[in-house]
Amino acid sequence: MHELGVVFTTIDTLEELGRENDLSRITRVTMRLGEVSGILQDYFADCWRWACGRTELLKDSTLELETIDAVTFCTACEKTYGTVEHGRTCPFCGSDQTYLLTGNEIEIKEIEGC
Ligand SMILES: [Zn+2]
Repeated sequence: MHELGVVFTTIDTLEELGRENDLSRITRVTMRLGEVSGILQDYFADCWRWACGRTELLKDSTLELETIDAVTFCTACEKTYGTVEHGRTCPFCGSDQTYLLTGNEIEIKEIEGC
């Protein structure tokens, strides 16, 4: 149900943006989703269609999804590596002193409306 919650929060944000910008319709929304944000894109798109169908503003909107690759930084050897392949342990030096640089994002990148 994570996806549905995120969809509702996103729609709230878009409705606010719509009001601020005097939009009567939002026709296209581009979202960027991090690879390890926990969002399943197919399920997100289903929730999106369902929830947007219940709003005036977003009824006929198109959703575009972009993925942000998950990248982890190792503070021991100062290298970066792919999080999905290697998890929390650095593949170069074996350290677990690592943190996620990108990949946890759930962002609205762009909207088009009128
Ligand atoms: Zn390392």
